[in-house]
Amino acid sequence: MDEKHDFVEVDPNIPEEGPSAPPPGWLDNIAGYEGSNPGGTPDGNYHPPPPPYSPPDSDQNARVLNVREPTVSEDVAREALLQFVEKKWTYSSKPAKNLVFKDLKPITVYRYRLETYTEARSSSWESEPFTGQQVDGPENGMSPAPWEVPVQYPQKFTDMCIKVRVPHSCSVKGCYGCQCTGSVRCGRCHSRGRVRCMHCHGSGHTRTGKDRRRCISCHGRGMKRCIQCHGRGFKTCSTCNGYRNIMHFIQLTITWKNQVLEFIPDKTPEFPLKKFAKVSGDGFFEDENLLVYPIVGFPDQDICDMSKKGIEEHVSKFSPVSRILQQRQTIELVPLTHAFYSYHGKDYDYYVYGRENQVYIPKYPTACSIL
Ligand SMILES: [Zn+2]
Ligand SMILES: [Zn+2]
Ligand SMILES: [Zn+2]
Repeated sequence: MDEKHDFVEVDPNIPEEGPSAPPPGWLDNIAGYEGSNPGGTPDGNYHPPPPPYSPPDSDQNARVLNVREPTVSEDVAREALLQFVEKKWTYSSKPAKNLVFKDLKPITVYRYRLETYTEARSSSWESEPFTGQQVDGPENGMSPAPWEVPVQYPQKFTDMCIKVRVPHSCSVKGCYGCQCTGSVRCGRCHSRGRVRCMHCHGSGHTRTGKDRRRCISCHGRGMKRCIQCHGRGFKTCSTCNGYRNIMHFIQLTITWKNQVLEFIPDKTPEFPLKKFAKVSGDGFFEDENLLVYPIVGFPDQDICDMSKKGIEEHVSKFSPVSRILQQRQTIELVPLTHAFYSYHGKDYDYYVYGRENQVYIPKYPTACSIL
């Protein structure tokens, strides 16, 4: 077969594949969105929020809530221990059933939590093939500034991220990827439609000498049809999907995040603080406002100090890059009881903690010590 006929003739007007992103200067300037990156890097252009709202008026809604006494009865303490022991196959339930309580000592544990609900806005240039869809361009008016683009707000203190198209920022341009032809030359086969057979390395034969055989993969031709362009030598432009034109627009990414700080003063060194992370407590104090004030006069000074420090930190950290929509600070009373008991003449102890009556036990009488 004449080698020449093995290759396809590609229309000379079909260009090489263009850049993967619009070249510099390609996109129009939209006031307020200068510096937006093309190609979907939403963090590329963070828009600092406009000056903060006027400081909150003094209608603080701090509330002291009713809480239960953080004590457990002997029955509750024993039941909690039994449930705990059941889950540990190496532990016998005998000691838990037969132990004799000596003391149940309630310990006051406060958990302070500060939540700062923030909104951040960033923008980037995005594009999609132009298929005749509506184009909301500058002829419809000025694009609203990043912080003036209207959006539907989620429920307070819930994390969410949405992307919206900035009004009047759309424009249609010829595709930079294919010079408006809708097709690009195939780079894999250099627009020949065929590539060298990998099986026989282009020789058309496998093995050598007497054993020489025709390559079954390419039927002895040494070349195979290019799978990328299906033998055409060119392919549909991936930037415009063959539509030849692209609609560019500015996409605003809006992120709502609840920033949480938690703090428990460490008053019981023998009890690991991190255990509290998994249990709930009783709401004791709640204060919600646009910006909250540091707690003053609370019996535990560590809580007051952390409130002051935490609020300062949150405001200085989050207000330059996001808008603080709401703050909430709460104090919870987390139940913690130190249980002392004796079993077979020996003294032991454990802790019952959280509303869920979880158990922390540093040392449990073993099966051996029973015998
Ligand atoms: Zn072959
Ligand atoms: Zn190809
Ligand atoms: Zn194109």
